Amino acid sequence: MSTVTLGSPVSTLYGIGPEAERRLKKIDIETVYDLISYLPRRYDDWSRLSKIIDYKDGEPMSFTAHLTSNPVRKGTRRTSPVSFFVSDTEGRMELTFFNAPYIAGKFSKGDNVFVHGTVSMFGGRPQMVNPHVEKADSTEGMDLIRPVYPLTAGITSNQLRRWIKTALGLVSDQIRNVIPPDLVLKEGLCSAKEAYNFVHFPEELSQAYEGRRRIAYEELILLGIGMKRFMKNEGPEDRAPQVIPRSSSGLPADAGRKWNMILGNLGFELTADQKAALRDIQTDLMKTTPMNRLVQGDVGSGKTAVAVLAMAMTALMGKQAVLLAPTSVLAKQHYESASSMLRGSGINVALLLGKTKASLKKEIKEQLRDNTASVIIGTHALLSDDVNFSDLALVIADEQHRFGVKQREKLLISREDEEDGVNSVHNLVMTATPIPRTLAMVIYGDMDTSVIKNKPAGRREIKTNFLPDTSGNEIFEAVRAKLRLGQQAYIVCPRIDDDDDDVMWKDVFPDEGIEERSSFARRSISVKEMMERLEASGLAGEFKCEMLYGSMKESEKLEVMERFLSNETQVLVSTTVIEVGVNNPNATMMIIMDADRFGLSTLHQLRGRIGRGDKQSYCILVSDNRSELSLQRMKLMCECSDGFVLAGKDLELRGPGDFFGTRQHGIPQLRAANLFTDSDKAKTACDSVNELAARGGSEASEIMDNIRFMFDLRFKEKLGTL
Ligand code: ADP
Ligand code: MG
Repeated sequence: MSTVTLGSPVSTLYGIGPEAERRLKKIDIETVYDLISYLPRRYDDWSRLSKIIDYKDGEPMSFTAHLTSNPVRKGTRRTSPVSFFVSDTEGRMELTFFNAPYIAGKFSKGDNVFVHGTVSMFGGRPQMVNPHVEKADSTEGMDLIRPVYPLTAGITSNQLRRWIKTALGLVSDQIRNVIPPDLVLKEGLCSAKEAYNFVHFPEELSQAYEGRRRIAYEELILLGIGMKRFMKNEGPEDRAPQVIPRSSSGLPADAGRKWNMILGNLGFELTADQKAALRDIQTDLMKTTPMNRLVQGDVGSGKTAVAVLAMAMTALMGKQAVLLAPTSVLAKQHYESASSMLRGSGINVALLLGKTKASLKKEIKEQLRDNTASVIIGTHALLSDDVNFSDLALVIADEQHRFGVKQREKLLISREDEEDGVNSVHNLVMTATPIPRTLAMVIYGDMDTSVIKNKPAGRREIKTNFLPDTSGNEIFEAVRAKLRLGQQAYIVCPRIDDDDDDVMWKDVFPDEGIEERSSFARRSISVKEMMERLEASGLAGEFKCEMLYGSMKESEKLEVMERFLSNETQVLVSTTVIEVGVNNPNATMMIIMDADRFGLSTLHQLRGRIGRGDKQSYCILVSDNRSELSLQRMKLMCECSDGFVLAGKDLELRGPGDFFGTRQHGIPQLRAANLFTDSDKAKTACDSVNELAARGGSEASEIMDNIRFMFDLRFKEKLGTL
């Protein structure tokens, strides 16, 4: 038998077959290490024993008792529920089991059992439906602190526990220590091996917390140290090309004239914040220290113009600039804006997408190699190994959260020449997400920031309303009214079709299991269902409505988008694929169906697709969820249009959840630590590692080796996978 290591695929564990492997992959568990570091969301405490007569309707309880009857099937079918009675000294309760025919053969009259479940009243008497029951004369040695895991459809907490137990038995000695001994001592941390056992199999709640605390430090160190040391990041020895000369006498003869012409092409005056951001960039481009700058601006603040102008600056100086977009739809759109802004300037703009025809691709790559194209826009296709640049100086990532560090690293490597000791490029990242400084520092190192606060003048505030009824036809009337004015609309739905998981809840409650969610809510409306309703309402007859979703073919997506941008299609029914960057100023109406399924940040990003022109725009949030939390969130969306404020409120409402999570940034989600509440801890931990490393010696090199080893397991492969 081959040995199981932390990096082995989960399928090497006994009991995990292809089906389980597929389901685990859905929750990002691929290796044995992923499995053991999948932490419980909370713990149920079953250790407090009650007497049966002390039950409270609707509340969970634990007790020990004995069976006073044999299990009987209440019906004739094999699937009929099975039930039996249990008693302790004073009380009696019926336990009923659905979908559990095996219960009948497992227990018999007289057995002593431990029971945990939630009491419900039936015919005036207490009962439990599908409680946990196990044979036991006492609770000695039983696992009564029960971890509850965030789950995906088809995996239960019990299965996970079993697999994790097997895994820990095989690999817990392989977990390496990444925390400097000084810090372990100072913080009184348990060992790594203990920590993983404690979080999954605690004897007391305090143990679970102790384990979690240790793992939080581990994560912070792996992220904080690993990102900076083991990913390609600028170090003091790195040099980028000096793009802009320090004195105007060094400028090419017609650069000034062309620059003014490009500004004229914009068709608008830059806002003060846009100008300030450009000045920051210009100053950076005069240096040979690689720029490492984040441009933060709420949706619609005009980041694209800043990006294109930064590229234009670079191109006018004879160097190349790349703009990486997260989707081909967005890349295409940027290509069109850039082409129109740069027309007549002599700057050659190229677009490279995955689906670009091979012959054309070859031609474009040729242009990149000999610098006939100097402004290059594209998707991941630009990161392929055979793409080489002759004079790459600036790399811009739009909506950074969709790109991993790993991908930027790749572009840097693909730089062909290293004349003048130039081994790096200038980096610019555009994002609408307000990444707090402490977080940015841990993840990107010390990044400079330019903030675009004010939106272009003449913008009208989007009017947002809440409609608490998902089935009515008011929305179609509202949409129709806009369409008759020649304007366009988006209708956003959480799902594509019926087979699709209701994944969007993840956005709101990242920790909740899908099973748990679906038990208290109906399924959300899908894009396909919405199309049917549009047809039934007659709207699809009067106007052209089309669907757009992520799993469509790239070329189809582009065509749908093109028709929408040219107003050939009036209504776009889509999933959140339009969340990022899509720009159609003629779209003035957005309906978001089952809006409670989306996080505030997503809602805000979505809403940012409208209100991009000078016409009044409207957003209608549709949801029949009457929970306090949901109503509060909807109210907030209606009242607040500031992404930065919403981010803060989101944190307040549901705790420091996933607002800044994986999906938003390409930053791996932390499991035990929290980058908001733990940013001080992160600093302490990273400082302590850096001090140790500076002192040197065998202890230091062992810890650094361990960090590298664990970083690769925990983060490396996850970075930059969308
Ligand atoms: P985002 O910051 O969300 O990427 P965009 O760059 O897509 O925003 O800009 C949104 C819209 O605003 C676009 O239609 C763009 O042409 C327009 N725009 C950008 N800057 C200005 C400005 N200074 N004045 C007027 N309109 C502008
Ligand atoms: Mg944008």
